[in-house]
Amino acid sequence: MLIQSDYHIHASFYRVKRETDDPGPTAAEQLAAARASGSVYVGVLEHCNASSKHPFYCLEELAKEYYSPGFPAENVFLGVEADLNDDGSDFCGTAGRKKLGLHYVIGSVHTSPAALSFDEYLALEHRCIVNALKYNSNVDIIGHPFGEGKRWVKSGDIEYWHWGLIPENYLEDILRFASETGKALEINRGDFDDPVYMDFLRKMRDANIIFEVGSDAHIPDSCVKAAVRTQKLDELGFKEENHWRIHR
Ligand SMILES: [Zn+2]
Ligand SMILES: [Zn+2]
Repeated sequence: MLIQSDYHIHASFYRVKRETDDPGPTAAEQLAAARASGSVYVGVLEHCNASSKHPFYCLEELAKEYYSPGFPAENVFLGVEADLNDDGSDFCGTAGRKKLGLHYVIGSVHTSPAALSFDEYLALEHRCIVNALKYNSNVDIIGHPFGEGKRWVKSGDIEYWHWGLIPENYLEDILRFASETGKALEINRGDFDDPVYMDFLRKMRDANIIFEVGSDAHIPDSCVKAAVRTQKLDELGFKEENHWRIHR
């Protein structure tokens, strides 16, 4: 049995928002939800990118909550979800990591149909991930590979999203470099009905690629997604020894 963990939980309290917006959960609130969902190891984070919603001081405030006396930090870790650049570098960098006292960095691609065509998006995701795997020692985990594809359905560019739209060599490269570098790939979106995604997961399993599970919860109710994903991986025969963990 896999030990349930969730290293991708957003403490959305720490972002710039309008007064009318929901304040969003603190790290303590998300931790309580993750524990209620059965996660043993928990990581809280927020975005680190160029968006005006996520200035660096928000991450400093999150770090302040985490490092405050009385915060129940046992088996709880502090991370960021940093945007990846074309060359594989990440928006947080080693200096940001040190300043915040982070335990780990998840590197993710975030973009939208407003910026790129669908094919350009696929190429960007491939390039950023491969370069991060090859050249960026600051990134521990690749967050939700090709997790933005669904957005091009909403924009009308594609009829429906499925992993069969991704060029095969893109997926092969990611598997190869993850295997070679020992970095983790995140199981984040729930594409479990997609045969190409399931094939990708089986290849990850067979190559003993390090995997990490993330709910990507922005609200407490979503933390339960980690349990669903962990169960799927258990059914597929993923091994605990390949399960990413801090200080293992
Ligand atoms: Zn993300
Ligand atoms: Zn996220």
